[in-house]
Amino acid sequence: MLYDNHGRVINYMRLAVTDRCNLRCYYCMPEEGIDYVPRADLLTYEEMIRVVSVFSKLGISKIRITGGEPFLRKDLMSFLGEISQLPDLKKIHITSNGTLLIDKIEALRQMGINSINLSLDSLDRERFFKITRRDDFPKVMECMDALLAANFEVKINMVVLAGQNTEDIIPMLELAKDKNIAVRFIEEMPFNGTDGKGNVEFWSNQKILQTIQEKYPSAKKILDPKYSTSANYQIENFKGTFGIIAAYTRTFCGSCNRIRLTPQGLIKTCLYDGGVFNVRDLLRAGASDVQLAEALKSALSHRAKDGFEAEQRRFQNPVSESMATIGG
Ligand code: SAM
Ligand code: SF4
Repeated sequence: MLYDNHGRVINYMRLAVTDRCNLRCYYCMPEEGIDYVPRADLLTYEEMIRVVSVFSKLGISKIRITGGEPFLRKDLMSFLGEISQLPDLKKIHITSNGTLLIDKIEALRQMGINSINLSLDSLDRERFFKITRRDDFPKVMECMDALLAANFEVKINMVVLAGQNTEDIIPMLELAKDKNIAVRFIEEMPFNGTDGKGNVEFWSNQKILQTIQEKYPSAKKILDPKYSTSANYQIENFKGTFGIIAAYTRTFCGSCNRIRLTPQGLIKTCLYDGGVFNVRDLLRAGASDVQLAEALKSALSHRAKDGFEAEQRRFQNPVSESMATIGG
């Protein structure tokens, strides 16, 4: 088992396989002039497999594939096939915008991957277009239905954006009335690849909960799974559940079990840090598996206690990079 200097178990890695995306969600990326990581600086699949293999032997038993849009990277399915064979990796989950994966569902299921988080910020086609700058709403809905029909565990991630989609909170929640899904409302963070500033009016987790409770006063807190970043609730007669992720307020750092690997090889021990070491540089300099493992253990021995401390320690402060280069 891996532990950090605050006694927290570390068993989960979020791996962003690309910083490229086919959507342009305004809270994540600028519309144009994006500073993509040069191809030669991206980790190759071979390098990712090596890192995942070494880290899984140390105690990373769950991985989430994210990006950018993971299904935009060529040959993702072969890569998933390879890591699904690693004996110490118990769970592979994926976060996707749901526009490119519908024809991969059966193959994913055969690899044992059956849990997908879909990002969906509005149930109104016009508002979806305004937020993502692409007209792909029908594709995402079709994908959600296909995943449910194939018995996938589906979570919907909606970033709550003042002046853009707060009228979608209740309709989105009501998706869980008849469908066995978990709808999660996420506080907006300043990772938008531009000036680092989010909305002027910020929708906190309390404000989101209050909005829901006004309509559904019977919403009941349920037990959160271990290490959960969302505070989870159930409404009577709803098939699914809902959760609220205090991503900006950062109320969950005390039990944080995760690290991140960015497309350019940076290991982040907190979403808000600037990266603590680069596995790509180590690998390309000929590091052994033992050296790679030691680098991770050393980084975990001085991990920030929470997202506020991590942010303070950053060289580049405040945060302004795109979430697509971090992996969400
Ligand atoms: N493209 C995939 C998707 O959209 O699901 C995976 C990558 S995306 C960066 C991962 C998650 O980060 C998504 O749920 C997205 O909504 C969330 N995200 C991106 N920018 C954010 C921001 N500024 N604040 C809060 N969440 C953000
Ligand atoms: Fe792309 Fe996901 Fe960022 Fe939207 S949130 S621009 S889909 S990476």
